[in-house]
Amino acid sequence: MTTANHNDVASGLVQAAITAAEHAYAPYSHYPVGAALRAGDGTIFTGCNVENASYPATICAERTALVKAVSEGQRQFDLIAVVTRNGGFPCGICRQMLYEFAPDLRIIVANLDGEILNDAPLSDLLAHGFGPAHLPHSAEK
Ligand SMILES: [Zn+2]
Repeated sequence: MTTANHNDVASGLVQAAITAAEHAYAPYSHYPVGAALRAGDGTIFTGCNVENASYPATICAERTALVKAVSEGQRQFDLIAVVTRNGGFPCGICRQMLYEFAPDLRIIVANLDGEILNDAPLSDLLAHGFGPAHLPHSAEK
């Protein structure tokens, strides 16, 4: 992949995540988040945060995108873009959920203006991650 193509892919994902953030249901945090996850076959799955009056029931944008994708038969991912107003990184729960399916995932962090602020492998964000390989009877992937 050339650098130009790489940048096009990244900015396309960021734009998809920005669109997804417009659907965020965030009446409590007032912190809209959008995510766009690219599956192995190139399909893009988007997600937004969906909060709840029972706060722990809230689901993040990254997990929304992941669960949508897995529920449609996807289990391989190579790239995710996450957008917030200030370039926030995925939370620990999302890092763990993403690690289950894509320990080699690349994470692009951007703001709602589309500026890419960080681009890092998941392994940098979740060092020594715990995954299926650590369990004696790993789930089939
Ligand atoms: Zn999260």
